Amino acid sequence: MKKVVIASNNAGKLREIQQILAPLAIEALPQSSFGVPECPEPHVTFVENCIAKARHASAHTGLPALADDSGICVDALNGAPGVYSARYAGEPKSDERNNQKLIEALKGNPNRKAHYYCVMVYVRYADDPQPIIAEGAWHGEIIDEPRGAGGFGYDPYFLVPAFGRTGAELTADEKNGISHRGQALMALAERLGATA
Ligand code: IMP
Repeated sequence: MKKVVIASNNAGKLREIQQILAPLAIEALPQSSFGVPECPEPHVTFVENCIAKARHASAHTGLPALADDSGICVDALNGAPGVYSARYAGEPKSDERNNQKLIEALKGNPNRKAHYYCVMVYVRYADDPQPIIAEGAWHGEIIDEPRGAGGFGYDPYFLVPAFGRTGAELTADEKNGISHRGQALMALAERLGATA
């Protein structure tokens, strides 16, 4: 098994990534098990922050590294909250306050279009000049009243028209099959499989 460090400490994401990479004989190890310190994310695009995180994890471990970055982009808000999705309403991070701020910002606005976006970056070494970059986008609409108890973050307010349900009303398998993160992971696995 080839060892790859995952630049995330989120147990749910790590599990999803491990499942998808195991058939490629890749062992996905969390950066926490190597004591990698938190990486600054100063950039205004997902991909720049994601490349920084992957390089940082690789530099601290000497292993190939995989990072992900995601958020929600709302058309009527010029793509906000975007890279600031996790702390849209400030620190400490709060899904509830983030969602309140989003609904307030869209009050009276008929344009409800939004999409989740996820990018994944794989580097073979810290200064890899050719990172593998895979992405996914999941389109929907922001509604004013929350629905459902699953998922996390903005999911209760994110209506998926094809299902007539919010992200929080989908099962985990349904969501993984169509979500931005699921799409990016599948695309990444395909690229890694082709280069392995
Ligand atoms: P991160 O990539 O884990 O830092 O996620 C950034 C933020 O984007 C999260 O804290 C959520 O607010 C939002 N987000 C990303 N993906 C999802 C999702 O699948 N559902 C709901 N919110 C999400």
